[in-house]
Amino acid sequence: MFSKKIKEAELGYTYDDFLLSPNESWIEAKDVNTTAKVSKNFELNIPIISSAMDTVTETELAIALAQVGGIGVIHRNMTLEQEVEQVKNVKSSGDLTIRDVVTTNPESSLDTVRDLMEQEAVSGLPVIEDENLIGIISKRDIKPILASVSDKKVKDIMTSDVVTVEDSISPLDALDIAYENKVERLPVVRDGKLVGIITIRDILNHKKYPQASRDKEGKLLVAAATGPFDLERAIALDEAGADILAVDCAHAHNMNVVNFASTLKDNIDADLIVGNIATGEAAEALISQGIDGLKVGIGPGSMCTTRIIAGVGVPQLTAISDVADVASKHGIPVIADGGLRYSGDIAKAIAAGADLVMLGNLLAGTYESPGDVVVMNGRQYKQYRGMGSMGAMTGGFGGGADRYFQEIKGHMKHSKLVPEGVEGAVPYKGMLNDVVFQLIGGLKASMGYCGAKDIETMKKVAKFVRITSSGIKESHPHDLLITNESPNYPTLD
Ligand code: 5GP
Repeated sequence: MFSKKIKEAELGYTYDDFLLSPNESWIEAKDVNTTAKVSKNFELNIPIISSAMDTVTETELAIALAQVGGIGVIHRNMTLEQEVEQVKNVKSSGDLTIRDVVTTNPESSLDTVRDLMEQEAVSGLPVIEDENLIGIISKRDIKPILASVSDKKVKDIMTSDVVTVEDSISPLDALDIAYENKVERLPVVRDGKLVGIITIRDILNHKKYPQASRDKEGKLLVAAATGPFDLERAIALDEAGADILAVDCAHAHNMNVVNFASTLKDNIDADLIVGNIATGEAAEALISQGIDGLKVGIGPGSMCTTRIIAGVGVPQLTAISDVADVASKHGIPVIADGGLRYSGDIAKAIAAGADLVMLGNLLAGTYESPGDVVVMNGRQYKQYRGMGSMGAMTGGFGGGADRYFQEIKGHMKHSKLVPEGVEGAVPYKGMLNDVVFQLIGGLKASMGYCGAKDIETMKKVAKFVRITSSGIKESHPHDLLITNESPNYPTLD
């Protein structure tokens, strides 16, 4: 009976065990479409989502990733209030409409208005009377007048015939209206009341990111991590405007986590992604709770030690394909989380059935990730640590500990925690958009080789070829000394 367990054990495969075999192709890399579904209600232009880790995703990285078409998951190793603030910061950064508008009133003197404009660094102010918008005044209106007549008031020189727009206007329509009427700013009005202002500068900035992930109002998309049983945090993040909540747990096939998933789902409007899992049975269990996306990966991460500490895990390509077999029947997106080192791994994850990938290591070390650049042996690095590492579990707010079903109580001794991750550093990689450009470039090249015009086709047509250790050796550069590092082939010292 025991020998049967060994003899009948399945063989598990991961990225280095395969290559993708080239297919007849009628498509070129530059023409492929990388749009991918991340959850039931959200689609991204690129299949990349960032890890909810305290050395990877905070406001800055979440904004940068959403601007290039992915989505960031804000980590939860901070207070609920701090995480809520971070979600709000991402949402407001991509909002075309400035909602916190500085206004003036018709009786103000021109001197007061000029000082206010200087103080707030704005070049125009809406004029409000009895809560209604009655005009607009700009620096240009005031300039010629101040020199001659200084006792004039706002009401004497303001423009009363204001061009206004509605909240729901698209950036392009707003730009057309601004150009047609030769105005630099458009007050946004609802029932005669001012609710915000749109400036040409913001519209042009908005257009700079045509690939950006945005909600219906044009704001950047953001996801946020919550604990498997943390209803209070989930509700607060949902109310703060998070588009997706990601239940962040090392073993989401724990039946208490599975059962609580439907309670979370029932209490939020955001989509709910749950993970991590590695089997088809876990996928079935979670899908039956009404979740909107699944995250796959038990122990493949670059700084994880779960497979060594607990002896548990499933090599990642086997895990992805087992989960995808079940999830695809229900139309639930699959996120391949952890273990990706090169752009080719993203292509392999998708070929194995994933819709998109979650990246920790590959995005840690970018300019936008939290933390400072440190120099060691003449090279630049940034810190990267597991959320189950001793440092993350004890140095923050315990957000790493309950992921591993451990609890931080008061000043708990380190010796009472069992880490499942390590702390380290990764080479500083520069700006996130350059890193993502290389990753997506590699994926597109792969789709061209495989003859796949989009992600769904890639999942269907890409074929694997099983390789040996000699195959891996042959795949990497060999028999030369690399003299110039390539931006998409890092060589760690
Ligand atoms: P990477 O992209 O670095 O290979 O993997 C990142 C993923 O590892 C994260 O998205 C998360 O799922 C997982 N992870 C983060 N911290 C830890 C940890 O301390 N232990 C384990 N087992 N997994 C972790």
